[in-house]
Amino acid sequence: MKSIVPFISSLPKADIDQWLKVLKKKLPKEKIVKFSNLKKTDYHKVDVAIVANPNPTEVKKLENLKWIQSVWVGVEKLVESFKGEKVKIVRLIDPEMNRTMSEAVLSWVLYLHRDMYFYRVQQNKKTWKETDYVKPSNKVVSFIGLGELGSASAAKLIQNGFNVYGWSRGKKKISKVKSFTGELGLKKMLKQTDILVCLIPLTQKTKYLLNYKTLSYLKKGASIINFARGAIINEKDLVKHLNSGKIKHAVLDVFEKEPLPKTSTLWKHKNVTVLPHISAHTDMDTSSSIVCKNIKMYRLKNRIPKSVDMIRGY
Ligand code: NAP
Repeated sequence: MKSIVPFISSLPKADIDQWLKVLKKKLPKEKIVKFSNLKKTDYHKVDVAIVANPNPTEVKKLENLKWIQSVWVGVEKLVESFKGEKVKIVRLIDPEMNRTMSEAVLSWVLYLHRDMYFYRVQQNKKTWKETDYVKPSNKVVSFIGLGELGSASAAKLIQNGFNVYGWSRGKKKISKVKSFTGELGLKKMLKQTDILVCLIPLTQKTKYLLNYKTLSYLKKGASIINFARGAIINEKDLVKHLNSGKIKHAVLDVFEKEPLPKTSTLWKHKNVTVLPHISAHTDMDTSSSIVCKNIKMYRLKNRIPKSVDMIRGY
């Protein structure tokens, strides 16, 4: 008899239906069902669920659930919702997501590096004026977070001639990447940084990691890209540094409140580029293949894939 794997999600119905279609095709030996179609009498039979923005109350109804497979890379909300619970959270690790994110990082680093936003503003004023050109080999791009996404993006910048630094919890040995750790390491790295790329999970330790004090360590005229989570940066402190000219430009893809409220001053700030959380999309085809492979392995070897460390928060 087929085992039941519920797909638990608060996404729009059309999206849920699309996920179900793909998952059912890739996992024909499992009975994949929408949570609302799962019979109460079957709740106790479920040991693994696939989730995409689930309602935690629904997940908690499954008393024998051992692990949750997320179809997303970032699992901050899940970690928050299941703090203290014994269920394991497995996030998506997908080379295609790493590729998409590294493409976004390269694109927006070049946008800052070649002053594209500046020339757009100039054109509006019909101004003909050059900015100074500095070679990538004379610029430092630093990463806050050197995990799956950070290290893939670092590699792409190295290929394009930039000096690349990175800050993480543990020391890293990545070819041509200068690794920094700890508070002092962060300060040292920021002092040499021209463009800072944020790719660190939001945890209790990283909330407002970039605040008035830490941002003031940056080189004068440095720029920032935030592709992680809004609350890594204290927005008010960032605006203070943008207004003073300490920070030249910020490319923000993520915000504490999304969509960014129409009342936010960030929309109209001349030194801010607002993006609607588009830096890296989940590819339904590759991600569902990985999710299905994880579930097949679990059935075969009874081994749960590497799960989130609930103490560290990522
Ligand atoms: P990951 O593989 O878990 O890497 C996280 C990195 O952050 C690691 O290098 C880790 O250090 C470092 N780190 C975590 N806490 C730290 C701390 N307190 N001090 C210093 N370093 C710390 O995560 P990932 O797959 O690269 O994803 C990163 C984040 O990107 C996600 O959590 C999500 O928020 C965001 N994201 C955004 C989008 C988007 O569309 N904007 C898409 C996907 C993901 P160690 O290596 O030493 O452990």
